[in-house]
Amino acid sequence: IEFRNVYFRYPNTKNYVLNGVNFTIDNRETISIVGRNGAGKTTMIKLLSRLYKPEKGEIRVNGKNINDYDYASYNRLLSVIFQDFKVFEFTIMENIALCDEENGAAESKTMAAAEKAGIYDYISGLKDGAGTYVGTTFDENGTNLSGGQRQKVAIARAVYKDSKMIVLDEPTAALDPVAEAETYEKLNELIDGKTAVYISHRLSSCKFCDRILLLDGGTITEEGTHDELMRRGGLYAKMFQLQADALLSGNPV
Ligand code: ADP
Repeated sequence: IEFRNVYFRYPNTKNYVLNGVNFTIDNRETISIVGRNGAGKTTMIKLLSRLYKPEKGEIRVNGKNINDYDYASYNRLLSVIFQDFKVFEFTIMENIALCDEENGAAESKTMAAAEKAGIYDYISGLKDGAGTYVGTTFDENGTNLSGGQRQKVAIARAVYKDSKMIVLDEPTAALDPVAEAETYEKLNELIDGKTAVYISHRLSSCKFCDRILLLDGGTITEEGTHDELMRRGGLYAKMFQLQADALLSGNPV
């Protein structure tokens, strides 16, 4: 994945959110993108997903401008879990397999994805298993999922899709610290040799990534491993220290 001098502002707005963003992510690399709230992290993912186009510059995947790919085949390459993912009031399998239910292997693939996302035990404990409805709109015996369980269903959906690139925007925001730790323990298994991009506001969860990119003022201002960025003593180190202090004082930010 390569961002080449990417500029972007939202339609009918004056200020650029991305102001000449440059970076390259290698095949099978695990990258974390961090930055202050509103820095433009999600915006970069929206551009990578072709929801918007850069105003200047280009985004390339495998050396080809992403807009030159056929839209459907590009979509198959990329699996994104946005912060505002949707879990529908369909069955759990329909939510995870999304239009692939006719596939004879859909149920076993659904359960394998659920295992990686950490929700296998919950689903297999339900009377109708993966055939259980989410919510009670269509079936009074449907199950009500907690925020964390919904997030795991969304993660399982991305795992099921098995695309080459996986992007997780704040993947653990709705999880409590124990569930978050469990998810991160499983992440290596979950990404399984894919190119993975995580956006995370909890900097402690970036440590496991190959590289961290810090977005600030519309450009990538710091880039390196956790240890490199800590030694550098810049904004990343400052933000990390602030979060660590806040955690220790019992007021997490
Ligand atoms: P981050 O993910 O780093 O918190 P975002 O990419 O969500 O930041 O937002 C970057 C900036 O773009 C923010 O100032 C935000 O208010 C603005 N923004 C996001 N979405 C829109 C939109 N649809 N229209 C106009 N401005 C937007």
